[in-house]
Amino acid sequence: MTLELSRLAKTYGEFTFGPVDLTVGDEVLAVLGPSGSGKTTLLSLVAGIAEPASGSILLDGRELVGRPLEDRRVGMVFQEGALFPHMTARENVEYAAVSDERVADLAATLELEGVLDRRPPTLSGGERQRVALARTLAADPDVLLLDEPLSSLDAPIRKRLRDELHDLFASLDIPVLYVTHDQRTATALGDRLAIVGDGTLEQVGSPSAVLDRPASRFVARFTGTENLFEGTVAERTGGDILVRVGDVRFQTAGSTVAESAVPGAAVTVCIHPSRVELEPLDASVDGGAEQANAVTGTVARWLNEGNEYRIDVEVSGGLTLVANVRPPTFERLGVDIGSEIRVLAPRESIHLIPDSGESR
Ligand code: ADP
Ligand code: MG
Repeated sequence: MTLELSRLAKTYGEFTFGPVDLTVGDEVLAVLGPSGSGKTTLLSLVAGIAEPASGSILLDGRELVGRPLEDRRVGMVFQEGALFPHMTARENVEYAAVSDERVADLAATLELEGVLDRRPPTLSGGERQRVALARTLAADPDVLLLDEPLSSLDAPIRKRLRDELHDLFASLDIPVLYVTHDQRTATALGDRLAIVGDGTLEQVGSPSAVLDRPASRFVARFTGTENLFEGTVAERTGGDILVRVGDVRFQTAGSTVAESAVPGAAVTVCIHPSRVELEPLDASVDGGAEQANAVTGTVARWLNEGNEYRIDVEVSGGLTLVANVRPPTFERLGVDIGSEIRVLAPRESIHLIPDSGESR
């Protein structure tokens, strides 16, 4: 199946969604964006809950716009899987099922056997979402839409169900649009990510492409690239670019930046905190001399974020580089506020966004 959105647009008062062009094949597209950016609007248009102002939605070449919801063969799962409370779980799943085998298969896959005779109000949040998913899939939809289906669940259940969804999606051969505002869920489940910001698609690509090579400052910020610096291209040799940010120099390795990054051009240097390396000062071979991508700085603060430590290092010119390190690294470094430390940004970790005049 191929879902093809062309110039799809919708307006609600001040809010404009689109126009959006997007093609989704038999894959999981994780739709990630802040609250109010238009994620639910996108799903509602595909499902037929809302009609677009303009544009088209083709499913294997068949136009969905203008068709009633029940003709679309689009299944949708909501944040709180809207089940019929007066029916048992089994009756809910059977409601629009294509066959008894389908119901039995889904009950087995989603481990529902033990709860089929209970009514939704007696089920846990995780069980309710499994039943909602089974009910939607029982109708054998051509497209599956999920709108933050795990966000009302507790963390351990959410993680378990997320892992199960990963396996379940792999067995489905249809386009799946999975809306979430949680980056981990998006990268874990998505074959590709679509980043939505204020009604527009900011970037669509593989998780690593979006995370490592954000197309805009919005995407960089939203996906956790805290090191964003305004710089100027100093030199360009082949694909490699030397950028100056104040008196700190960053050397890229084979940059994918457009030809516009010529000497003198303004660019934004992006370095994800997880790519920044820290070294004790005395371990540096060159004794702390300034060179491209390596500077000496002062630890300004650190924060224990559970799985990792976040360390802010002030380097020359008022620049602060943020590094995320694993607990063993943190302990080995013996990080103290006010102490001097060596900061390295490997060439491969540096991504440049050309300055197109978009607000920083
Ligand atoms: P998200 O799901 O990303 O949080 P939504 O798509 O729900 O965002 O909403 C995007 C914007 O559209 C919001 O400003 C919201 O208030 C508005 N909106 C969504 N649905 C409607 C509606 N049915 N009527 C009026 N405004 C709406
Ligand atoms: Mg929403």
